[in-house]
This record gives sequence, structure tokens and C-alpha cells, in this order.
Amino acid sequence: MKFTELTQYFERLEETSSRLALIDILAELFKKTDATTVDKVMYLTQGRVAPFYEPTEIGMADKMVAQSIGEAFGLTKDEVLAEYARKGDLGIVAFALSEQKRQKGKKDELSVVEVFETLKAIAHTSGVGSVEKKITALKELMEHMDAVSAKHLSRIPLGKTRLGIGDPTILDGIAIAVLGDKSKRKLLEKAYNETSDLGLIGKTLMEGGLEAVQKLGVTVGRPIRSELCERLPNPVKVFEKMAPPRHSGEVQNQSKSGEAQTDPGQARMTDNDGIHATYKYDGFRVQIHKNGDKVEMFSRNLEDMTHMFPELIEGTLKQIKATSVILDSEAMAYQPESEEFLPFQETTKRRRKHNIEAMAESLPLKAFVFDILYVDGRSLLGTPLNERVEIMKKTIVGDEILIPEPGIIMKKPEDLQLMLDSAFTQGLEGVVVKRPDSGYEAGGRNFNWVKLKKHSAGDLSDTIDCVILGYIYGKGKRTAFGAGALLVGLYDKKEDQFVSVTRIGTGLTDDEWRSIKEKTKGLELDHKPARVHSLITPSVWVKPEIVIEVLADEITRSPLHTAGATISDDGVKEPGYALRFPRLITFRDKDKKAEDATSVDELIAMFGGQGKKE
Ligand code: ATP
Repeated sequence: MKFTELTQYFERLEETSSRLALIDILAELFKKTDATTVDKVMYLTQGRVAPFYEPTEIGMADKMVAQSIGEAFGLTKDEVLAEYARKGDLGIVAFALSEQKRQKGKKDELSVVEVFETLKAIAHTSGVGSVEKKITALKELMEHMDAVSAKHLSRIPLGKTRLGIGDPTILDGIAIAVLGDKSKRKLLEKAYNETSDLGLIGKTLMEGGLEAVQKLGVTVGRPIRSELCERLPNPVKVFEKMAPPRHSGEVQNQSKSGEAQTDPGQARMTDNDGIHATYKYDGFRVQIHKNGDKVEMFSRNLEDMTHMFPELIEGTLKQIKATSVILDSEAMAYQPESEEFLPFQETTKRRRKHNIEAMAESLPLKAFVFDILYVDGRSLLGTPLNERVEIMKKTIVGDEILIPEPGIIMKKPEDLQLMLDSAFTQGLEGVVVKRPDSGYEAGGRNFNWVKLKKHSAGDLSDTIDCVILGYIYGKGKRTAFGAGALLVGLYDKKEDQFVSVTRIGTGLTDDEWRSIKEKTKGLELDHKPARVHSLITPSVWVKPEIVIEVLADEITRSPLHTAGATISDDGVKEPGYALRFPRLITFRDKDKKAEDATSVDELIAMFGGQGKKE
């Protein structure tokens, strides 16, 4: 496939404002692609030259790309940058210059593979003279392509492809292209959750069919998508939902066997299979992969964090008995002497790329290991939690840096309440409760794992992670800041789209309002993004990428918002859900992707739990 053919599809993808159209265009594109190219097409569609978890960054900032554009079309870097300041998008600048300056009749003959390989080579260029080499390589590509291709190519190194296509939409597209429809898409999704590599799924599907995809399984070095938690308001609800009493026949049998029963109600409550409880550590999720003496670590976002935490590498090599292993853990700054957990604000100072050794020295992390997903060639995803915990205990020796957290099996809400109180006393966030018989559901969020936090009982003091969908121009003093209110939304997992939930006008300082323009630079769109569903049209649409943490007083039903709404051509059938008195707490865009924002299902569950303090 020629690169110019691919960028014609990018044009169509960029222009559409309907998710169904996105899927159709992608399916058409994948049908035209062969097995040797499909992975590259998938990565390029996401503006990458490797899966997300591979730290292969092209490593060219605005100024370098501007220099390449300038050299390709006979302008200075500063002239290109001046145009960029006017147009706000280097892709548009490259397009215009290419149209003006290009010699007529030049053929656009580069293939997708050639462009992809060159971009990958640029990413791997390092050392002395690498800046010039990268600039020249990009310039040479640009000289050999048409204006539309130059536009899309310029955006790739900057990570601003503007196509806004989510992984589930790409999976829908490939399912239709190869399997004819979406009926087997769940199987593709499962494989994706276990490998985190869309290109691999596409290529394997085209080469070996669905059977080959199902055999992919877990591999050390490829992150598994993390299992996440649902919320419940209190310990009683946890037992009702996760460990309901066995039916009465069994209770009678037990009483016949002579067990003392002073309180029949209590007996019923404790006659269950129990829940597995651990503290909820407030640091960041780290998935640790070890293969021989190679250790890699991934964040919940699938970002490679290996180089950030040298002490965890050392701990893994020292304490793990197995040759190969995948562990799930929460890393946190902890003082073993005083048994003191440091606050999240301290721990988070370690999420940086500079002064790593010094930081590891002054603020060493411990990894609280709560799960094991793979050991010596065997995936444990299908193994029940209680068995995984036993394997974990045998695999980790000591607790110097990796601290095993085997959890406790509990049969009574009172015991869980005690543990919750003890968590708060130690400054922890709460408790995570799991079903002891559940396998590890990669990428899942359901009632196999539940978090209990201090304020989840009723009064909505729990925050909600929202995604910025657009902003509304400011009035009065805020005119100067550009933005005066934000339109924000949540992620609707089933539809792979973002739905509106509220407008926010408070909680931001003057500087933060100013920073909104800065943060959204390059993400603004002149039409509604295809994966956004909203009845409200903001002054400026913003590609759904920036996650903010929001606190609100209450969740209400509202016909204005699309979160949880049913809307047909004749209007709103079921109103949506909205946040009342929302205020911004913090920007979460560093550690969460838009798809990690609070989901509509979670919001509805929180709405159901409101005001029910027991
Ligand atoms: P929050 O913002 O409430 O911390 P979250 O959106 O980051 O939640 P959730 O799925 O809601 O993620 O909560 C689960 C998170 O809690 C996990 O991603 C993990 O980072 C952390 N965690 C801490 N302790 C544990 C534990 N013992 N078991 C599982 N996860 C834990």
C-alpha cells in the first residue's frame, strides 16, 4: 500500500463526526491492507511506530519538525514557526507549503512500509549529530510526498494525529474487515487485553485467523491490561454483592451438625464463601515483568516505567525465585522503620525522568505485590485468586523491597469494617476487596474487585475523573484567558465514545484558566470529534485526551447531558446523568488516558448508592 493511499483514509477519518463512520472507513482501509502491512497501518493510525507500551518515541519536538518542513520547502525554521503560530497546526503549515512549492508532476511513490521504517529509524537515532539526522530523514520523506501526506506525516512525530480513534474502534474495524462482522470481536478484545498490542492482533488475525489470535496469550515483556475496581458504599453491601449467604438448606444442615448458633442472623451472614481483603495503597500501579535477569515495569497506562525505579529492579532480581514472572503491585513511598506510608503527593514525585538515582536514594519505593499473573512459562490469568496468592507467597522471598500482600479472607462485614478503620488510621485510602474464586480479568472492571473508600458512602465525596470535551469562551475577566467554562464528559465503554456530564466554571485559579488554552493547544477541532456524543456545543471542541479530577455535590438526572441517556431521532427518551456543583480538583492527564476516566456505568452505580448511608 502506498502512503498516499493511507493518508487519503486519514483525511476521511479526520473529517467524520460519527463513530459508525469511523468503523466503516477503518474496515475499508483494513480490507485493502495485507498481513505484512496491517500492523504498521494500525500503529500509524494511532500516531505511533510501535505499540503504546514500547518506549519508541520519534523524539522530534515542534522546532525540529518545523526545521524539516522548512528544508523541504525552502523556508527558514523561523518562517515555518511564524506560520505555525498563525495556523496552530504544523500539519496545515506543511500542507500549504507543499501545495505552493512542490514541483508539479513529482510522483508520490513511497509505500507505507518505507515511511514506517524511516520513522522507526528516526526514533532509534541517538547520539552525536542525531538532531540533524532526524531532521534530514523527515525532510527527505516530505520531499517525496503529496500535500495531504505531508500534512499527516508532520503530525506523527508530534503525537498529534488528530484522528482520535480508540482501541475498541480499531478492533471493530479489523473484525469487520477480516471476520465479516463484529460477532467474534470479544475474542479479539480478550487477546488485546492480554497482549496490549493492536498491531500484533491485526497481523496475527490476517495471517492465522481467529484461532491464532486466541493462542497469543500472555508473554513476559508485553503488559497485561490491568484489572480495575468497581465501587460499593460499605462492608454490608460488599458481602451482599460479593459473598451472598448460601441458601437456607445449607444453613439448616450446619445447625443440625451441632454448631452453636446464638444469633441466627449472624450465622446466616457468616455462612458464605468469604471475601479477600487487602489495603488500598495510594501510590501507582506497577506491573513487574521479569525474564531471567531482565526486568521491565509498566504503568496502568501501559507506559514503560522500567528506568524510573532502579530499586524495584534490584528488589525483583533479589527476591523473586522464579525465572520468569509477571507481578501486579502498587508502588509507594514507605518508611519501614516507622511503618509509615507517605502521602501520594510524595510518592508521585518519583514519576519523572530526571535525577532518578538521587530520587531513588532520597525517596525509595516499596512495591506492595498483591497478585501474580504469570510464572515460569505459565499464565495464571485463569487461576482463582486464592491459588494465585499461594503461588505468589512461594515466589517472593522476604519483604525488603517487594512486600507481598497476600490479603485476608473474611466472612463478616464487622471484620471488614475494622480493616477499613485501620486503613484510615494509617493514612491509607481504604480497602480493596476481591472474590477469592475469581480469575484475573485483564482490562476488566466488575464486581470481582471492589474498592471501599472513606467517603464512598452516599455523600459523593469521592471524586470523578472526567475528560475535557471542549471549552466555552470566557466572559468578563475570563475573556482574557480564552476559556471561561469547560464542557466535560465520561467514557462510555460499550460505545467507545465520550458523553457529556457537566460544565465546569469553578475550582480553577486564574493561572489554571490561562493554562487551559496552553494544554488544549493542538487538540482543538473545528467540528465535533467522531467519538464524542453531546447535545451541548462548546465554543471550541477539544480532542478527548485531557483527564481532570472533579468533585461534585451530587449526581442528578438531566436531559441536557448524554451520559447514560437514551436519545433517538425524536429527542431524549431517557434523560442522562449530570454532576451538580462540579469543581476541578486536579489535572490527571499524566497518569490517565481518556479511556481510563470514570465510566458511565460507574457513575450510574454511584447515583444508585447516593444518600444510602448505612
Ligand atoms: P482511584 O482514583 O480511586 O485511586 P483508580 O481510578 O486509580 O481509583 P480504581 O480501579 O478505581 O483505579 O482503583 C484500583 C486502583 O487501586 C488500582 O489501579 C491500583 O492502582 C490501586 N490499588 C491499591 N492497592 C491495591 C490492591 N491491594 N489491589 C488492587 N489494586 C490496588
